[in-house]
Amino acid sequence: MPELPEVETTRRGIRAALVGHTVQALDLREPRLRWRVEPTLAAAITGQRVVDVRRRAKYLLIELESGTLIAHLGMSGSLRVMPLAAPRLVHDHYDLVLDTGQCLRFNDPRRFGSLHWCTGDPHEHQLLASLGPEPLDRGFDAAYLAARARGRRAAVKVFLMDQRIVVGVGNIYASEALFRAGVRPRRAAGRVSRAEWERIVDAIRAVLQEAIKQGGTTLRDYVGADGTPGYFRQELYVYERSGEPCRRCATPIRHLVQGQRSTYFCPSCQK
Ligand SMILES: [Zn+2]
Repeated sequence: MPELPEVETTRRGIRAALVGHTVQALDLREPRLRWRVEPTLAAAITGQRVVDVRRRAKYLLIELESGTLIAHLGMSGSLRVMPLAAPRLVHDHYDLVLDTGQCLRFNDPRRFGSLHWCTGDPHEHQLLASLGPEPLDRGFDAAYLAARARGRRAAVKVFLMDQRIVVGVGNIYASEALFRAGVRPRRAAGRVSRAEWERIVDAIRAVLQEAIKQGGTTLRDYVGADGTPGYFRQELYVYERSGEPCRRCATPIRHLVQGQRSTYFCPSCQK
């Protein structure tokens, strides 16, 4: 699944090809995505110039002159800039056609992606309004997490993956950050110390920034906006390394299931 670094990598990859250019059409081949794409959307955006491409959590915000396209990649989606004439594949669901002869093409085999149009403040849109802070922004720090975690019995890993607490800390990055912070994933969030929250915040920022720097990803089937795969997988300490020796202490990495998601940790390095 594309996580925050993959979405940020996509944003950086597509931004230059879009900003300053005009949308000539929305060629919608399959409106039945996670939510049905509004039939009026194409008419609403045609002829508008792209002002900026931003990101909020795992949503790409394609800012046009009179509103914002809110695009999500879902479980298996990718957005790539390519020549409009490039042959369409079976899971290519829409083309945002630009005045450059190129298009922004959305491919998504599982159709969990989405595309919405918002003429108001996109941050007030129902998809975005209740989201927690961005992990790479200043407002996200140990004091914030400690306050939100007070009295909470939820496991710290499950707590960190709650989008209302902080956005974009997906399964891989939660496991990796907790390893680097030396905190066991099953600890109750309310029992994590202030010093541990400091380490967790630093670790979340570090793993996300490293993943972004290396072009996103982790995933077998993930490719960046230009079609190149990411290489972060080689840097993982615990994720999908069950039974393999810890890269720090050689203890076999353990696996458990939390909230139906796989969790990996080192029983020696993490307390
Ligand atoms: Zn270890």
